[in-house]
Amino acid sequence: MTLQTQLSKIPVTIITGFLGAGKTTLIRYVLENAKGRRLALIVNEFGDIGVDGEILRSCGIDNCPDENIIELANGCICCTVADDFIPAIEKLLALPNRPDHIIVETSGLALPKPLVKAFDWPPIRSRLTVDGVVTVVDGAAVAAGRFADDPEALLAQREEDVSIDHDNPLEEVFEDQLLCADLVIVNKADLINNEQLKEVCEQITAVVPRAVRIVETHEGKVANEILLGLSAAAEDDLVNRPSHHDAEEGHDHDDFDSFALPVPTIADIPAFLARLESIAAEHDVLRIKGFLDVANKPMRLLVQGVGTRFRHHFDTIWPKDTPRAGHLVFIGEKGLSRAALETELARSL
Ligand SMILES: [Zn+2]
Repeated sequence: MTLQTQLSKIPVTIITGFLGAGKTTLIRYVLENAKGRRLALIVNEFGDIGVDGEILRSCGIDNCPDENIIELANGCICCTVADDFIPAIEKLLALPNRPDHIIVETSGLALPKPLVKAFDWPPIRSRLTVDGVVTVVDGAAVAAGRFADDPEALLAQREEDVSIDHDNPLEEVFEDQLLCADLVIVNKADLINNEQLKEVCEQITAVVPRAVRIVETHEGKVANEILLGLSAAAEDDLVNRPSHHDAEEGHDHDDFDSFALPVPTIADIPAFLARLESIAAEHDVLRIKGFLDVANKPMRLLVQGVGTRFRHHFDTIWPKDTPRAGHLVFIGEKGLSRAALETELARSL
């Protein structure tokens, strides 16, 4: 390939990371600091309601108008590369103002490798290159052991069947996302102390097979100079990015369940959030997020929970064409009961 064609390829940054690691916040920071760079986004969510796309759209940044943001909800893009992802990429390439850089936010359960593989397909690789796979990690969740196998249970299982590596589906996704990384961002570093941060970095280094830079931050504040322009050409380097699913024909995400539930107008925010916290704890919900309608407030309330850690703020006025109707997306390990959560929610109001 000539240098000229190489240079004319549009760089694509893949932002991956487990549910609630802070990918959307990080991307928002990238958009706000674009400094004239024309950006386009593909936002993928596991749940069938796009919350992240809404958050990014509402930031109204000139360098990333609405038509440059494509949402792919309802499943992980790693499973629907040909049906969803490639058409989305084609749409961005057809924009009258060609983007300078494309950012892909994968769902928190997506495996990045199948996506990187797509960039090795001749019609794609001639026009695009994977500038880098950036894996965002929730430092506090890693420090709390959220992604670690129970060592005793694992040992017992291995005695029976040596081929089993994991009994924790969270750990498997977490590791697959790290195994593909060109850069690891340890987010929420403000929630842990230096000793914990050191341990988190050691855990990451133990998983990542190559020398990869680890950057700590909070609120996703990473300079674009660090994030973009890695020039990794990851599509040329697939062999160095092992995955737990390499031996499989495909993969599925049936270790996890997700659904969205409507929430009627709420009046007392702290009381409702306290209920959500206890619901998350009781039912082991991994992620709760969505917009709520609060009585007498013109703005919608954005609520985001990771485990039992919740935050909220009024994000924007309810858009004109959107009904003021609250809803929350729930994601958990397989068996998360929709009926039970419906009952819990009804009891909370
Ligand atoms: Zn998949």
